[in-house]
Amino acid sequence: MRSDLDEALVRDFPHLYRDRHGDPRDTSMVYGFPGDGWEPIIRRLSEKLEPIARETGMRAVQVKEKMGGLRFYVTGADGARVLPDSVHAAIWASMEESSRTCEHCGAAGSTAKVGGWWLTLCTACLERARAQRAEQRRPEARVWLDDVRPAPKGWTRAYTAAEAIALLEAGGVVEISLDHDLGDEATCGSGYQVAVWIEEAVATRGFVPPVIRIHSANVVGRARMAQAIASIERLRRRGTA
Ligand SMILES: [Zn+2]
Repeated sequence: MRSDLDEALVRDFPHLYRDRHGDPRDTSMVYGFPGDGWEPIIRRLSEKLEPIARETGMRAVQVKEKMGGLRFYVTGADGARVLPDSVHAAIWASMEESSRTCEHCGAAGSTAKVGGWWLTLCTACLERARAQRAEQRRPEARVWLDDVRPAPKGWTRAYTAAEAIALLEAGGVVEISLDHDLGDEATCGSGYQVAVWIEEAVATRGFVPPVIRIHSANVVGRARMAQAIASIERLRRRGTA
């Protein structure tokens, strides 16, 4: 979502979004809000929830898109899970509305697949998204994730988990080879994080995974990544069955 819209939500509903700039280890609110076109839906829902948040300490923990629909997660004070029925009903109604509202412009829309992702768009935004997607289509790429070992000839080198994810996100990656340890900085991430990102994208957004290989020498890291890859393989088979 555009930053001015995002900031206005946080300003207007300070209790509900009190964790917007919190610690990413505690809250997924740090990732902000999805689609500009859904801002009115999120705002109307926030108007209903803010008085409850102010009274009870309830707060939003994540607002995101999944399979072309709005997902809105809240928690009670001190992590309490039990919330009034009115909260669940209001969230449910907003999710339902999002599934027929263009997430880009707010016009009437429906859910469609664009380049491996489920999005809810109006006819005009869908055409634009598909055209952009066709323009951006990159030639087949092979990604070598490693901070030390040089990439084999013809492979694109990524030094950090974030770089590898950006390449996957851009599309066209047919194969990726993962190292586990990528340096001591927390910002470097690990090969495992990339495997988990792929797993989530396959599970929630219909992402078509590349061939995934492991070239890490870290025994524990290898095992963790192999587990994620096995899960991706199961999801992929289910998706195409
Ligand atoms: Zn639209």
